[in-house]
Amino acid sequence: RVAFVTNSLHGSHLNGSGPFVDDHPAPLRIAIVGAGIGGLTAALGLRRNGHQVDLFEQSRFANEVGAAIHLAPNANGILRRWGIFAEEFGAISMDRLVEHSQDGSRLKNIDLAMANKRWQHPWHLVHRVNIHEKLKKLATSDKGGGIPAQLHTSSKVASIDPQNGIITLESGATATADVVIGADGIYSMSRKYIKDARLFSSGKAAFRFLIPREVAEADPVTAPLVKFKNALEIWFGDDRRIVMYPCNDNQLLNFVCIHPDTESHATKSDEWNKKATIEQVLKVYREFDPAVKALISKVDPLTLMVWQLLDMEKLPTWTTGKLVLLGDAAHPFTPHQGQGAGQAMEDAAALTTVLPKGTAPEAISERLKLYEEIRSERAHAIQQYSRLAGKDWENGVPAIDMMAYTNHNFGHDEIDY
Ligand code: FAD
Repeated sequence: RVAFVTNSLHGSHLNGSGPFVDDHPAPLRIAIVGAGIGGLTAALGLRRNGHQVDLFEQSRFANEVGAAIHLAPNANGILRRWGIFAEEFGAISMDRLVEHSQDGSRLKNIDLAMANKRWQHPWHLVHRVNIHEKLKKLATSDKGGGIPAQLHTSSKVASIDPQNGIITLESGATATADVVIGADGIYSMSRKYIKDARLFSSGKAAFRFLIPREVAEADPVTAPLVKFKNALEIWFGDDRRIVMYPCNDNQLLNFVCIHPDTESHATKSDEWNKKATIEQVLKVYREFDPAVKALISKVDPLTLMVWQLLDMEKLPTWTTGKLVLLGDAAHPFTPHQGQGAGQAMEDAAALTTVLPKGTAPEAISERLKLYEEIRSERAHAIQQYSRLAGKDWENGVPAIDMMAYTNHNFGHDEIDY
């Protein structure tokens, strides 16, 4: 794969206008729509390549929300090669996997020490706000090589002219770029210039919330449930599950409670902060072990949200003219494999590879096609496995062997970007 990319960059793979030599004197002007994890990672990589990057973000990041996310070895490897170590901002390594049935009986207790040795990089659990902050600082700071990216907050992009690389903000202001990256998440507006694809319910919704570990430890009923540190624990019912894992140096426990969509009446919403109540959660998980219900009752109500898990048909392409999609805009992920952020980061690293310093503007359209060619098969395969991992258990067994799948797909750098 590496050889394939390198040869391609020198024209042997590209038809039509190649070969291209990367010695163009001026940096590319790159506009990124959306400063989520994907947009910021792309900004960081592309500024390091010496390009001039502008990020347009609709929000003010004033009330950043979100709970813990996974930084599996594949995503962590990208950060580490760029000198970013997630343990420096509260990430912890996932050292154990414990599975229970809904009545509390233990099904599995796997020490991941061996797996962690086999994996090329640690599997980290990190609060989304911490990694978002870190990427934002690195992309825009004076240090870090190249030209600092400019972040424009409260700057909602209203329309894009993909052929001419022009974006228009809601305010009416416009900007012209050599490349426009649509990194505007699952409800992407950039995507409609490729296809007005339909989002549909995956059949599941999730409550997500945080509980301080010390609160759970202080109660003798719930303390035994949180005795393992650095562990991901799952309680499985037939069609619903509770997933718990720590973040912030083990001080917070992050919960994702996945259940049939119809039960919490989550509605399609572009907000990550749609509030829910503990009564709703307890109703959906009424059949679960009383100790587990006591545990989830300790929720910090300010953190309790409900989130409808959406899916989308595959797009015919990720790029048209000067526009290219990245992350959830290109391939929205259900969260069952913890790969939404990881795949957005792999996209960003691949774009960084195909647009090195010195890229000529005439080469861009073919480079963007090359990016899609590199990324599409893997991103869609992982998207499909995420769907399978979220399926209800049949005859007491999950739809896929999660450990085998994990070792194979996320344990290593699939592509050494
Ligand atoms: P996103 O992270 O969704 O980022 C898209 C960005 O684009 C957002 O900042 C959005 O405000 C911006 N945007 C959208 N439209 C426009 C526009 N027209 N103009 C300008 N800007 C625009 N995943 C989890 O697994 N657990 C969580 O707890 C969790 N919390 C989240 C909280 C928030 C606030 C967000 C935005 C996402 C959250 N996610 C969470 C999703 C997860 O971060 C993404 O699925 C994954 O990181 C892929 O990232 P992305 O960059 O493609 O999209």
